[in-house]
Amino acid sequence: MGTPIGSNTVLTYEQALSLVHEKVRLANPAPAVEAVSLEEAGGRVLGEDVHADRAYPPFHRAIRDGYALRAADVGQPPAVLECIGEVRAGEHFPGAVGRAQCVSIMTGAPLPDGADAVVMVEHSRAELASGGRAGHVNVLRSVACWENVVKQGSEAAAGAVVLRRGGRLTASELGLLAMVGRAHVTVFRRPAVAILPTGDEVVPVERQPEWFQIRNSNAVALSAQVAAAGGIPKLLPIAPDRADRLRELIADALRYDLLLLSGGVSMGKFDVVEEALAGMGAEFFFQGVAIRPGKPLVFGRLQDRFFFGLPGNPVSTFVTFELFARPAIAALGGAAPEEPVFLRARLAQPVRFKLGLRAFLPARAQLRDGDPVVALVGWQGSGDLVGLAQANCFLVIPPERSDLAAGDWVDVLPKPD
Ligand code: AMP
Ligand code: MG
Repeated sequence: MGTPIGSNTVLTYEQALSLVHEKVRLANPAPAVEAVSLEEAGGRVLGEDVHADRAYPPFHRAIRDGYALRAADVGQPPAVLECIGEVRAGEHFPGAVGRAQCVSIMTGAPLPDGADAVVMVEHSRAELASGGRAGHVNVLRSVACWENVVKQGSEAAAGAVVLRRGGRLTASELGLLAMVGRAHVTVFRRPAVAILPTGDEVVPVERQPEWFQIRNSNAVALSAQVAAAGGIPKLLPIAPDRADRLRELIADALRYDLLLLSGGVSMGKFDVVEEALAGMGAEFFFQGVAIRPGKPLVFGRLQDRFFFGLPGNPVSTFVTFELFARPAIAALGGAAPEEPVFLRARLAQPVRFKLGLRAFLPARAQLRDGDPVVALVGWQGSGDLVGLAQANCFLVIPPERSDLAAGDWVDVLPKPD
């Protein structure tokens, strides 16, 4: 049975977000996994814990060019040491460093046996034939034990977990997988996400619109957002504002893991998305969130598929996707839950805003005299993609503040790529 539409289910931002997390995670404990090569693994979510195949570093590693020695021998500099050889990265010194001896060492080389520190070449003087004894080094500074050395196993012990299941694989994680010799890795399958734009005025991008029509920009932006969130976008045809045709397209979309509708969720006479969904027996978890832009956002489930009804104005669509659909896709794709990361910046200008709504306003943050400062971009409201394109973040205004002064510290949500 569907929940009656029009019920009083406007939630706060926090309530809505935790409901999305709760519903999706409860329904989707462990997605299927597949094995991919490292080249295919970028952006995927790890489906296994990954262990260090050996200690890291695998040996005591010199991190400076200089001389490997015993720290106790240079306690009272200057000290003259006998240089008994050289070791480069990719080699190992066959002998051992004894008392008052040293080995010339390059960054990345293993510390020879017997040595317990490296003195930087800048803090030494090679004593060549001119006056000094050939093969001797004058060390000008003392060093602490293990100075300029990273000890074997200090980054990871052999067998330690270096990456956890549920983490997203970006450049640094891919590097780490390569480091531990994982040419193939198990990842979760990406959820397929249907994108269903609605609106009698919306025409395909390749068609020349009449002066009273607009192009289907939402499907293009959403498609990129879905891919960035770890989903596979599936574009459906544009639905007219007619419940019967909408129902057909929604029924078709149920083959995918998640459904994103754009438009048709406001209070207008032709906003028929909720009516169509309700007619099919959908359950609504909320039908409004106290945010701007994006207040009419709808979240629910039809059969065993979740759906979002995203308001059609392009900035509303963008923001509501980022705030709510992105975490849902992450959960469906097996990603470990993550809190949204808000940064802090000082407000460049005074801002007045309606009490009771949490605002996410397109803005630009930058450093000014060393301080992070955020300024609103000029924009004409939630339909203004030109303004959104100039933004690098959203200025967040909490619902209990209506008047913010220049210089106030505010939350800023970075605009994702
Ligand atoms: P709606 O949420 O259906 O009331 O739509 C609000 C506004 O968003 C209208 O001005 C629409 O023209 C615009 N809009 C709706 N769907 C799209 C779309 N797919 N691409 C771009 N703009 C859209
Ligand atoms: Mg519409």
